[in-house]
Amino acid sequence: MQALSPELESFRARVRDWINDNFPAELRSEEKQEEYYQYLPRYPQAPDFQLWKERVRDKGWGTPGWPLAYGGGGLPTERARIVATELYACGAYNPMTGMGTSMLGPTLLEYGNDTQKAAHLPRISRGEVRWCQGYSEPGSGSDLASLQTKAEDKGDHYLVNGQKIWTSGSLWADWMFCLVRTDPTVKQEGISFLLIDMKTPGIEVRPIEIISGQSPFSEVFFTDVVVPKDNLVGQLNRGWTIAKRLLQFERDATTNRRRQMAGDTRPVAEIAKHYVGVDEAGRIADADLRARIIKHMMHFKSLTLMQQQMLDATKAGQGPSEASSVAKNAQAAVQQERGELLIEIMGYQGLGWDGAGYERTELETTRAFLSNKAMSIYSGTHEIQNNIIAKRMLGLLDHQ
Ligand SMILES: Cc1cc2nc3c(=O)[nH]c(=O)nc-3n(C[C@H](O)[C@H](O)[C@H](O)COP(=O)(O)OP(=O)(O)OC[C@H]3O[C@@H](n4cnc5c(N)ncnc54)[C@H](O)[C@@H]3O)c2cc1C
Repeated sequence: MQALSPELESFRARVRDWINDNFPAELRSEEKQEEYYQYLPRYPQAPDFQLWKERVRDKGWGTPGWPLAYGGGGLPTERARIVATELYACGAYNPMTGMGTSMLGPTLLEYGNDTQKAAHLPRISRGEVRWCQGYSEPGSGSDLASLQTKAEDKGDHYLVNGQKIWTSGSLWADWMFCLVRTDPTVKQEGISFLLIDMKTPGIEVRPIEIISGQSPFSEVFFTDVVVPKDNLVGQLNRGWTIAKRLLQFERDATTNRRRQMAGDTRPVAEIAKHYVGVDEAGRIADADLRARIIKHMMHFKSLTLMQQQMLDATKAGQGPSEASSVAKNAQAAVQQERGELLIEIMGYQGLGWDGAGYERTELETTRAFLSNKAMSIYSGTHEIQNNIIAKRMLGLLDHQ
């Protein structure tokens, strides 16, 4: 891992000082962190949260790498990453986090026209709007390009009819970036990328009940929804390229997300010593478990080195590439391996859902174990990432 230059080290120190001076004391406990992460998508109105949000907004650090003109911090990639890393290291979080900052914003910066950038980016960087992703449909998940929600050209507007599914956050989203079919005679070449105001008449959001009782996603139905033509991003029928680029930003954000480490964040070996005990030499008592933990530690180290290498590669500012598929699969595999090990190590204490018999970190570890299962499904499944890697990076599928 490369050491930071003295100049960047000094920047890092200034960032750390600013966070320490400005991150409200009321938000600093572990419980508060967890609470705010749980509710972050809904932008809680609590005064301490609002204060933190205003301070981050005024600094432009919710979107540190975006241009100043759009409410960003105007920082080059390396410095923007330092801001993100320091927020995490100080136990602070980015109050603007969401699909707007991590997915749509970077995509609009590349593909949006000036009017669209001016209309949407400042509102995202100030945390005033929440976005959701209208990609998946019943029958069009992995085979996303088979999507059927159609947008018909009606002269001065598009008329949208169809259905999306698994739309995370759509219950509280203000806007949706949506893939629509604008030419039914071709597949990828008949898809366009539309921005849709969720308050438009004809949109119905139906929550999908899941086993935990919470409903992070919904089905979204469109019945004769009128969308202004100005809301088309890029060219008509050229939305597939934009959709794929957005997915790269999504995978990049997924692999950098703090929440994946929720629960007991100590190294696995330390946790194992606590629950399983040590032998006379001070090693984890179970030899087989010890060997598997060492293997996991090597996987974890490899992942960290790969992420650092990718970070170095993006220092020139070119953003994520196909390698985001490699990173996403590796992160999901290592994270799930960690979860499996921890549940085994914790034994009965790793099986709790609620109740006084469990430590808070134990309950969070169990929940993280469950929610990390989704990581190899959302933003394209593990198998689909392997297909992308085979096709676009290794050139293996050209002869099919
Ligand atoms: C937590 C979570 C949040 C989500 N949020 C959103 C959201 O906000 N917006 C949105 O649009 N979608 C969202 N999704 C949906 C997600 O993108 C899809 O679930 C995913 O793309 C897989 O599609 P599918 O569920 O239809 O599975 P399918 O496509 O039916 O796949 C089923 C299985 O078949 C395998 N498979 C399919 N095709 C191939 C192939 N060609 N080669 C090898 N294997 C294959 C898959 O890997 C998978 O294991 C979310 C999903 C989850 C779990």
